[in-house]
Amino acid sequence: MPDSLTGLMGFEEFLSQAGAEICSNQKPYLIAAADVGDFHYINTEYGYDIGDTVLKDIGDFLRMFLPNMVCGCRSHSDHFIALICIQDVDSERVFREVKRLKELLKNIVAKNAKGVSPNLNVGIYFLSENENNIVAAVDKANIARRTCKGNYNLPCVVYSEHLMDLKENSAKILPIFDDSFRKESIRVYLQPKISSETKKLVGAEALSRLVDAEGNIIPPTKFIAALEKTGKIVDLDFYVLTFVCKLIRKWIDAGIEPVTISFNLSRVHFYNASVVEDICKLAEQYNVPPQYIEIEVTESVFFEASEMIVSKVHKLREYGFKVSVDDFGTGYSSLSLIGVLPVDVVKLDKSFVKESLKSERGNELMKGVIRILNEIQLEIVCEGVETHEEEKIVTSYGCDEIQGYLYDKPIPTDEFENKYIH
Ligand code: C2E
Ligand code: CA
Ligand code: CA
Repeated sequence: MPDSLTGLMGFEEFLSQAGAEICSNQKPYLIAAADVGDFHYINTEYGYDIGDTVLKDIGDFLRMFLPNMVCGCRSHSDHFIALICIQDVDSERVFREVKRLKELLKNIVAKNAKGVSPNLNVGIYFLSENENNIVAAVDKANIARRTCKGNYNLPCVVYSEHLMDLKENSAKILPIFDDSFRKESIRVYLQPKISSETKKLVGAEALSRLVDAEGNIIPPTKFIAALEKTGKIVDLDFYVLTFVCKLIRKWIDAGIEPVTISFNLSRVHFYNASVVEDICKLAEQYNVPPQYIEIEVTESVFFEASEMIVSKVHKLREYGFKVSVDDFGTGYSSLSLIGVLPVDVVKLDKSFVKESLKSERGNELMKGVIRILNEIQLEIVCEGVETHEEEKIVTSYGCDEIQGYLYDKPIPTDEFENKYIH
């Protein structure tokens, strides 16, 4: 039976048509599986009618803009699957094409549902020749789709056997996180930020670590994505913020003038209506003046440019917290947008810094970026500075603060206090 909302076929019919197609033809195909990121949020914030409009638009979009689509369906709720015939297409090309199509879809939706900018999570599976198990192929596209959630710099994820390893990693990590959270044994490390002018400590970033049963430290690269997918990142970030508040309170009580400590606020928080109040409450509970706390928000969050996100960030700043754009230069950067964002600090990502320092043009680019950011009164932190030479260069370009292995890696709090706090 066709789906009455979108006019696309239903899942059963799709399986039967797509199955017949791949069995009877020897053409190259891919399966694309997609769902709308934070669809639940669109429904609750904008209403179910707008949610329906988005789904209808996606249905029309698939019919009109995927000319090589053999068949496509809405399998359930906000999930769509398509079988696409491909000629001479590799992953690179698919990445570019998906990126273009996603932008196009956003423009179409923006016309019918004002303020909504849906981001599709897209998983791709390339069928191999003679492969005729459609159900297994759809499963693989769905595994890739789920991995796409939280990978905001990627237009889509292409299935590979390696994804199965990632899934296994999540299964191992989550119980360790739950256990450490319950026992309050998550470690919070601090990495100093040093003034490029005075070479003195001006702040630090709080970064979390897990410890496994054998006492090995597990770095965030191994657990952040899994926590974002399950929403548990919200618990982690509040754990870190609580730790930071207690630490600053302790310093104030000891008569020490605190430096500003930053923590990372995952994008997942912005879909929680009370996030601003929750953060303010915590600072109040420990009686910590907000200027000692800085909130790092990764740049791709801002470049969805949703009014809802910008207004929350604005409120946090109005309350007195400092706000920084983290990971600047990793993909979405737009100087014109930065200019209108309610933020105090821009953190140049270590990959951007490293890449820029490699060539003359890169150096010129970074110099120009820092100059422009300076002109609009933003503070600039350079991450990933590892040598005196690099420090000298970025300082001469006008960078205000250095965060990098040159001074210290993220270190346990007691070590940090011994070294920097007197
Ligand atoms: P980030 O926010 O960009 O943090 C900086 C990362 O760069 C840290 O990695 C730090 O160790 C690394 N780094 C700093 N200086 C250098 C350098 O000179 N050379 C090199 N090679 N690396 C340097 P870390 O601690 O492994 O954290 C990775 C990412 O995990 C962080 O990137 C942040 O996005 C995320 N993260 C860590 N803790 C939390 C947390 O509690 N909550 C959330 N939401 N994210 C977290
Ligand atoms: Ca950060
Ligand atoms: Ca960063």
